[in-house]
Amino acid sequence: MNAPAPAPAPAHAPGPPLLECPRCARPTASLKHLRLLQLGLFAWLFWYVRTVGVVACPRCMRRRLLVTALLNTVPMNVLWPIAAPLAYGIPLLLTFRKGHSKVVRRAVGV
Ligand SMILES: [Zn+2]
Repeated sequence: MNAPAPAPAPAHAPGPPLLECPRCARPTASLKHLRLLQLGLFAWLFWYVRTVGVVACPRCMRRRLLVTALLNTVPMNVLWPIAAPLAYGIPLLLTFRKGHSKVVRRAVGV
């Protein structure tokens, strides 16, 4: 007796198209563009914040958030416990949303 033939793959899978992550080159259906806090500096009455736009898959984005959050613990010092949940927690939650970011969808025309 013959085994049943596997179901043919659909010609076009439902959902967003797969796009290549510019950091790890893996295809993803959730390419994210987020503005992240790259540098936060607090020195008594002086403070400085620099943000940068990052395009990456959720995995690369979470890694970037973790590294940046750890690197900013010293320059942000006493502000870190207050600023970190906003600066890193919100983008972290956004990496769990399915689908591409609006900026990415506009850029590739999907
Ligand atoms: Zn990636």
